[in-house]
Amino acid sequence: MERRNTRQRQQVLEAVRALDHPDADEICAALAGQKPRAGRATVYRNLNLLAEQGEIRRIETGGADRYDGCLRPHYHLRCRCCGRLFDAHMPVVEGLDKQLTDTGGFAVEGYTIVFVGLCPDCNKNLSGGR
Ligand SMILES: [Zn+2]
Ligand SMILES: [Zn+2]
Repeated sequence: MERRNTRQRQQVLEAVRALDHPDADEICAALAGQKPRAGRATVYRNLNLLAEQGEIRRIETGGADRYDGCLRPHYHLRCRCCGRLFDAHMPVVEGLDKQLTDTGGFAVEGYTIVFVGLCPDCNKNLSGGR
């Protein structure tokens, strides 16, 4: 049983790395043909585990969480239309969380920077009809 679990975790990890910031649905779809077949609950469990272990990053988007196999610190662009995430090409601001001096007792554990807008595809589709 343990071998099967390890194998499924590895499959989920590889899917996250192979896809571009996938959400759980996209990972399930990518793994649909694999054996042993991983059900939805298994995929979710493995995503949580891998994120806790720091093997992948979970990015909260306001919709379905997305996952990133790239652990280097970087920011993201999110399309408000299709929900896809892209890497933002800009230098990381060091010590941003240190600038937060008065949290009012809030225990800060991390932060996510996501720029919101329209991806090239959606932008084209939205402006294409006119
Ligand atoms: Zn889009
Ligand atoms: Zn990324």
